[in-house]
Amino acid sequence: MKYIGAHVSVEGGVGNAPIRAHEIEATSFALFTRSPSRWSSPAIKPAEAERFRENCAKYGYTPAQILPHDSYLINLGAPDPAKLEMSRTAFLDEFERCSQLGLTMLNFHPGSHLNAIPIDDCLALIADSINIVLDKTEGVKAVIENTAGQGSNLGCTFEQIAAIIDKVHDKERVGVCVDTCHTFAAGYDLASAEGYDAAWKHFDEVIGFKYLSGMHLNDSKKGLGSRVDRHELIGQGTIGPEFFARLMADKRMDNIPLILETPNPDEWAREIAWLKSNVTD
Ligand SMILES: [Zn+2]
Ligand SMILES: [Zn+2]
Repeated sequence: MKYIGAHVSVEGGVGNAPIRAHEIEATSFALFTRSPSRWSSPAIKPAEAERFRENCAKYGYTPAQILPHDSYLINLGAPDPAKLEMSRTAFLDEFERCSQLGLTMLNFHPGSHLNAIPIDDCLALIADSINIVLDKTEGVKAVIENTAGQGSNLGCTFEQIAAIIDKVHDKERVGVCVDTCHTFAAGYDLASAEGYDAAWKHFDEVIGFKYLSGMHLNDSKKGLGSRVDRHELIGQGTIGPEFFARLMADKRMDNIPLILETPNPDEWAREIAWLKSNVTD
């Protein structure tokens, strides 16, 4: 089955996220469990965590359909030791919040070298950060998102992600989230039928489908290989509708959260309905 949803707002409390997902007839959703743009965030109150669990049960969302996203400030490969420590502390807090909510995955961007350290050193720091937090927690998988390669962000090639996974000790608790806009902007031509097959074949050879734990469904405002991360409505960008129709008919993407991060929340219900109409079972 295809789990298709969007990154919904937690305004008014995390317990509202499953309600919002249900309103747009989503079968999956993403959320922030703490402020994405602040280092500190108040703890989730036990009653609010309970409301989240109750609403998930009420509307039929299991942990396999929910992909929380971490804070944008976290840089697990930060060259500055103080920033790295802050990032690891916040990352641990993100994991603990997931556990509190009964969730089993956390999606994050790998990290940035900020032109201060070599790429390989940064990849090693990222893997260390993941190992440190996995050692202190249980039950939550670290899901690495590929990036567009904007600035000094790592993770824009499948090889870089494979290099991180290679250094993670617990392979059962590491996964990958493929963002379609980022993949295209990073230079993988998903848009054509041949490009689609080639990109996924390459993904399987370098990383492996067993690690695919979720996807972000975004069309791209910018072109192939632009390395610019600008999301567009499904079918209205440079990737185009044929790609998304092909993806919905691809069994390899069954039973993982497929999350819209497209720019207009008012369009999500329509986009989800269109994507569902292309699913072949
Ligand atoms: Zn994304
Ligand atoms: Zn993006």
